[in-house]
Amino acid sequence: MQEERELMVEIGKQMSSSGLCPGTSGNQSIYNPELGLMAIKPSGIGYMETTPEDIVIMDLESHVVDGKRKPSSEWDMHTEFYKHKPTCRAIVHTHSRFCTTFAVLRKPIEAVHYVLADANCYEVPCAPYHTFGTPELANDAVKYCGDGDAVLLANHGIIVCGKNLNSAFGLAKNLEYIAELQYRALCIGQPHVLSKELMDEVFEGFKSYGQPSQIVHSATNVR
Ligand code: 13P
Ligand code: ZN
Repeated sequence: MQEERELMVEIGKQMSSSGLCPGTSGNQSIYNPELGLMAIKPSGIGYMETTPEDIVIMDLESHVVDGKRKPSSEWDMHTEFYKHKPTCRAIVHTHSRFCTTFAVLRKPIEAVHYVLADANCYEVPCAPYHTFGTPELANDAVKYCGDGDAVLLANHGIIVCGKNLNSAFGLAKNLEYIAELQYRALCIGQPHVLSKELMDEVFEGFKSYGQPSQIVHSATNVR
């Protein structure tokens, strides 16, 4: 899992410098399906101070199989996503300001911009509030996420899935951008929300977006 440990450290630094993860808030993980193991952030250690050795390796049965650190308090939530979402290979969880603003309101991020299609849903729903690090939070996060790739956590933040750690982080950035647009639009008026029919056209368009040799998934998030 050395490759995964190094990527975790690199993307962790980007998560911190992007401003999406102030302090030690948020966490990230990568799942290796061949080994059945996940590499997860150590709990409460600053992203800039984290070294590859600090990354904790766990199986999906709650066991730490390598690493001296205590795993992220949200290890159960990450595990539940990998167990229930077979294509999920990486997870990013943040307390980013605009997404969390809607999580505080317990309102979804709506299709105020077509790039929301990047999250594979018509709106990003909000799961009920539970204390951080609890099995109740883990279960409801997966349940409310449904078939999409992102879910808000009431009075807490957002969790997103990806086919790799870069794409999960890219989606977290895109959703923060859309949540900011929704917030700003609500400050001065009532935003128009794209209908399911119009979003279906976007899903269709994303299939062939970009260069033919390198089909990508969205306008702003090269996967
Ligand atoms: P950890 O440092 O334990 O990952 O906790 C951060 C967090 O966001 C908990 O929800
Ligand atoms: Zn959190």
